[in-house]
Amino acid sequence: MTRPNPTRPSRPESLLDASEIQPEFNPSRLRLARERRGITKEALGSLCGVSRRAVTDWEAGKVEHPPVASIARALEFPESYFYGDDLDEVGADAVSFRALSSMTSRQVGRVLAHASLLRGFSSWIDSRYATPDPDVPSFEELTASVEGSEPCPVDAALSLRSIWNLGTRPVLDMLALVESRGVRVLGLPGQDREVDAFSFWHEGRPFIFINASKSAERLRFDLAHELGHLCMHRDVRTNRNRRYELDANSFAGSFLMPANGLVPQLVGTLSLPDVMKLKVYWRVSATAMVRRLHQLRRISDWQYRSWMIDLSEKGFRSNEPDGGAKEQSALLRQILSLAREDGWRVDRICKELGIPRKDFSEAFMGLTVTSVESSSGFGASERRSFPLTTPPVLRAVSD
Ligand SMILES: [Zn+2]
Repeated sequence: MTRPNPTRPSRPESLLDASEIQPEFNPSRLRLARERRGITKEALGSLCGVSRRAVTDWEAGKVEHPPVASIARALEFPESYFYGDDLDEVGADAVSFRALSSMTSRQVGRVLAHASLLRGFSSWIDSRYATPDPDVPSFEELTASVEGSEPCPVDAALSLRSIWNLGTRPVLDMLALVESRGVRVLGLPGQDREVDAFSFWHEGRPFIFINASKSAERLRFDLAHELGHLCMHRDVRTNRNRRYELDANSFAGSFLMPANGLVPQLVGTLSLPDVMKLKVYWRVSATAMVRRLHQLRRISDWQYRSWMIDLSEKGFRSNEPDGGAKEQSALLRQILSLAREDGWRVDRICKELGIPRKDFSEAFMGLTVTSVESSSGFGASERRSFPLTTPPVLRAVSD
């Protein structure tokens, strides 16, 4: 990963005197802010002391001067936000939610509004700092190099590992890897943690939004899953199609645990303690390792089921009791640090982008050790190292 170079462009002077500009209320920004807060028109109306109908009229642009101060207070957005241009919104059809069926439309609206607000920060970065260019090949590019076989997620994962020169060993830092290939990774807000992750392309830049409150191993798997979508499903609508989700899971399993690296380690009859050694080495969850071994036909259906029950009882189904350290975004930390050197403290960036500070901070939650909110101190605690750097010895080879 190259260090971003500050370009420090000079800001163009406005041709108009500030007093001549008549700011215009933007109704689409009101709807987006309300969706971001996940509240109904009725609820916003009652916070502002008006009817639902009044809010409908504000959002339809039928009222030239709505009570912006009152709206801004209710939605916890700066007043200036409501006078900006239309935001380039992330549409529901552009992303793939794994848990879509269990999400309410309000939840979907809330996370998409978060992505729409934060996408401006990515453009802000690009206008000031040189970060790695996007280098995520398409599915066609990936499968073209695999001769004589049907295009499938396993081939795509294998092919991508080869194109990116990853060899047959574990990916040491999944977050650093995708960021070094130009993927912009940002966090999901705290109240939307039931959403695993989602990804999309925008103007040639791949984006992944992840739930950084999960274990290190699940975070890595989510990144690999979304990487699969970015490679394989760039031009398809993946929503509500379970096949794409299964393909992305299959891609992630093969990418993180490539058969040509894992299979040579499997000697003799496997046991659950072997799984524990393997999963630490490959930096995946125990359940992901069991699934992969089953997929590779190294364990029977019965073993698969009984180990999953065993792991579930030990708390491995939803968490990783002996998990490793969470990966951190060195890129975001560098950008925030360079920005600070250039006089762009977080408050100033938020003001420039018209984003409330708390929404901005949530995009970094758990992803940077440099705390955006100095008081919250997130990210720096509970760090543990991955202990293994050499392949596990599963059993002594008998003479
Ligand atoms: Zn997915």
